[in-house]
This record gives sequence, structure tokens and C-alpha cells, in this order.
Amino acid sequence: MSLADEFDGFLVDLDGVVWVGREMVPGSCATLQELLDRGKQLVFVTNNPGKPASTYAERLREAGAGIGEKSIVTAGEVTARLAAAGSERNAFVIGSPAFKATVATTGLELLDGEAAREAGVVLVAGHRDVDYEELLTATLALQRGAKLFATSRDPTLPMPGGAWPGTGAILAAIETATGARAEIGGKPEQHLFEAARERIAGAERVAMIGDRISSDIEGGRRAGLETILVLSGATSREEAESAAPPPDHILESIGDLL
Ligand SMILES: [Mg+2]
Repeated sequence: MSLADEFDGFLVDLDGVVWVGREMVPGSCATLQELLDRGKQLVFVTNNPGKPASTYAERLREAGAGIGEKSIVTAGEVTARLAAAGSERNAFVIGSPAFKATVATTGLELLDGEAAREAGVVLVAGHRDVDYEELLTATLALQRGAKLFATSRDPTLPMPGGAWPGTGAILAAIETATGARAEIGGKPEQHLFEAARERIAGAERVAMIGDRISSDIEGGRRAGLETILVLSGATSREEAESAAPPPDHILESIGDLL
């Protein structure tokens, strides 16, 4: 009996579990397809709002796992909905074009330039073109009372050759400048887990598979799920074994589920 047999559904992180940057974790998509063939329900939960769910689904399908975009929940969409649920209607967004498009679909009006200093909400997600002007605009808007939201506090993004600065690193600059504390849409907060559980409603025994203790494992634990840490991403075996509390299971990679 394999570990996979103990569950009928999985929430699966993407970066560091299925792929690292542009490189697939060896065997990951074959494992995902085998899980589907065995009748397991899969929902993907990513703190990375760099691309829309449709792009991630396409990448999974091209790599051999038949996943639809409805099975992918991104911290970007959850955070955007959270920000839009308040009474403020104007937003300043730091993030990728995909994240900005996601925020725009909620009905929030995106401001830029000096007008954005009057925005009622500021949303933050890590992206490759962060600059001082963005930090300045966010800082001034927050000083004027804007509410702050971010997709995660993940300090880094696992990449081939080393970790890159993540949303948490950029958010820290804004929180340091303003003293504001962001509300987080992604893992480990429960908004994203609630959205994911709705999409995996038929599964009773569900495990969270991820590569980061502070988001995947902590969030899964809070959601009442068994937790499986894989060592293909952000966490070393030493860090995994010394975590308090530790994950329920530690695997070299997702392929070891089978
Ligand atoms: Mg990850």
C-alpha cells in the first residue's frame, strides 16, 4: 500500500512540487495523472499569481496531466476577491499583468500614476519589475488610509540555481515603510483553503502536498488536513525534520506518493 492509498483527494502546491521555475520535477506529471487514473481528486493551490489558472492548467496538460483550470486556485484570485469584498472601489496593484487582470475582473478600478496615491486598497504580489515608484505609491496610499492586501508572505520562490525574492520580500518593504500589516489571501491563511475545499467537496480524506512549511504545511494543518512535505522545493530535510510541529509525512518528491 502506498501513501496515496490513504487519501481520496489532494490539495497540491505547484512551485517546488510540480515544477521549479521552467523545469518539471522529474515524474511529477506522470504521478498526477496516475492519481487521477486511480480516482483521486486533485485541486491545485498556488501562492504564485504570476499567471492565470488557465496557463497553469495548460502547462500541466502539456506535461501529461489532464487538469482543467477549475481545479486550480491561485492566491491571486482569492486575494482579489478579498479586496473587492470591502466598500473601497479603487485599487493600486503591485504585481504581474496577470494579477492586475484578475483584480480588474472583480470590479475594482485599477489606478496608476499619481492618482493611485488616492487608492482605497493596495494589493501586493511579487513580480519581476518592482520599482521604487511602486513602493512610493503604495506607501502614500497606505498613509492616507488605504487597506493593504497581499497574496502571501512567502519570502522566496524556488528556482533552478537558487531561491528568488518572493512576494513576502516586497511586502516587507511596504510594511516597513508604513507600519501597515497586510491581510493575506494565500496560504497559510484559510481563504484559499476554503475555496479549494469547495472544489474538492467529494473527497473525505484529503491531504495537502507542498514544499514550504510556513505556507503549505502550516495552512494545511490549520485546515485540518494531513500534511505531506516534499523536498523538491523550498525546504531541506533538516528544516523539515526540525519544524514544530513537523509535517505528517516527508517525501523526496511527489513521485514517492505511489
Ligand atoms: Mg511551493
